[in-house]
Amino acid sequence: MKIICIGRNYLPHIKELQNEVPREPVIFMKPKTAIANLGFPVYYPKFTEELHYEAEVVIRICKNGARITEANARNYFKEWTIGLDLTARDLQTKLKKNGLPWEISKSFDNSAILGDFVPVPFDKLHDTNFELYQNEERVQLGNTKDMIFSIEKIIAYVSQFFTLQMGDLIFTGTPEGVGMVLPYDEFDGRLDGKTLLKVTIN
Ligand code: MG
Repeated sequence: MKIICIGRNYLPHIKELQNEVPREPVIFMKPKTAIANLGFPVYYPKFTEELHYEAEVVIRICKNGARITEANARNYFKEWTIGLDLTARDLQTKLKKNGLPWEISKSFDNSAILGDFVPVPFDKLHDTNFELYQNEERVQLGNTKDMIFSIEKIIAYVSQFFTLQMGDLIFTGTPEGVGMVLPYDEFDGRLDGKTLLKVTIN
């Protein structure tokens, strides 16, 4: 399986990191080993002093397909959750400045933290809130209606290049409010008002 991530999909977040608004989705990937096993502790990585949380809606692909049309995209996912795309922002900033690929800042072990998957309410696909709480204080609030590229558009775009396979995950981008993770922070991720993700970074 593979994990495909979308960068720069919410305007206020693009502004907070002073990036340009993309004409096409910005794509990167994480390997399977990036998925944190929540039965074990998640540790603050030693190679960064600026670990950031990014809360994102994550969909799970339920059917193999390539060159999927936007109109047909809803047939390729049934479940979603909230996840954290952990980012070593200091490394990423340095790599970006030098025009280099981001992988080591984005795709390291435990950088993909997933909540429990639940069925997608398709009538609310484009109007669902999601929130991230850090030590019980809300730090991010997003709504799927504010995506620059909708989930259907992302599937159509990505599947031109990569065959999507059952079990693949797509992180759909983070809204504004990204910030520092400090050791022992407790995170609570909610999708549509329901807590699906709970993790402590040790
Ligand atoms: Mg992200």
